Amino acid sequence: MATHVSHISALQDEKLVTPYSEVAAKPQVKTDILVRLATFLQTTLDYQKILTIFKREIAGAVLIDGMTYQHSDHNIQFSLGKIHAHSCSYQLKAKNEGLGEITFTRATRFREHEMANLEALMGTLVYPLRNAIRYRAAIDQAFKDPLTGAGNRIALEDSLKRELELVKRHDLDLSLLMLDLDHFKPINDEFGHLVGDEVLKVVASKIKECIRQTDMYFRYGGEEFVVLLNNANIANARLIAERIRMGISSLVIQAQDSVIQPTVSIGLAVCKKETIASSTQDKDLIHRADKALYEAKASGRNKVCCAPYKSSPAEPT
Ligand code: GH3
Ligand code: MG
Ligand code: MG
Repeated sequence: MATHVSHISALQDEKLVTPYSEVAAKPQVKTDILVRLATFLQTTLDYQKILTIFKREIAGAVLIDGMTYQHSDHNIQFSLGKIHAHSCSYQLKAKNEGLGEITFTRATRFREHEMANLEALMGTLVYPLRNAIRYRAAIDQAFKDPLTGAGNRIALEDSLKRELELVKRHDLDLSLLMLDLDHFKPINDEFGHLVGDEVLKVVASKIKECIRQTDMYFRYGGEEFVVLLNNANIANARLIAERIRMGISSLVIQAQDSVIQPTVSIGLAVCKKETIASSTQDKDLIHRADKALYEAKASGRNKVCCAPYKSSPAEPT
């Protein structure tokens, strides 16, 4: 397998020395291909579309079967086309900002002049890709709680609406957990808000650890979290809720000369296709979980309570 790893920056913008030396092959890419490529790459801020356009547009200059792109700092892994044995990879960089790694593959070996062409073509990719990655990061941040990294209320509203649509379309159960830390105020009072914040962070990461990658968790308010479990019926959801409850109750957080052992109360409500007749289903699901949470608090805390199954509400006329 031929692997070529090189570093490439935005060549023409920064007037950097190109990675090919005097003796190496020179790129031979027609200017109109470069101009067309640069124009198309500026039409979107979606990194997947940018890479798709790039692969499509370079076909006239270099034959490529497959292309993968990964940027671990941003959790990005994207593939296009068929992956073959021969590959060449490039670390992408704009100024000092790492932009991940791109790999081209095909069934036959890459020649020197083809790699030189690829490098010239990539000069047009770097800045549009950097902008798309920055845009994606900004959007991600706008939907996140900065303290805990959990989704925020806007993200919850969006996700809940989308998940309820999926319940309608695919007839899958959706479960919602409403979590509230027990006696959190005394933790703040005794150890201070910074320690309280640390507890919130540790609790959020424990919640994340206890759920599947496709499940979602959000910070609902001060010391309250919501977890959305898609395709989880009441039995599954109860198991996961118990796992979270036990996970949190086994935490031992060092604070000054003592330790904090937080606990959480959880209210659980399930939504089924036949119950979604009302347009206010999202508020209804949260309300039912909230009531169940209240029960968990009233009956001793550090426990999970389930909202009773609700029959189909009448559609307002
Ligand atoms: P309960 O078991 O009934 O839920 O008791 P509690 O003390 O947890 O409930 P209460 O609603 O009285 O207190 C919630 C506390 O959460 C009060 C507030 O100071 C604290 N809080 C809210 N947001 C934050 C935050 O961002 N950081 C910190 N450190 N504390 C917060
Ligand atoms: Mg509360
Ligand atoms: Mg509380």
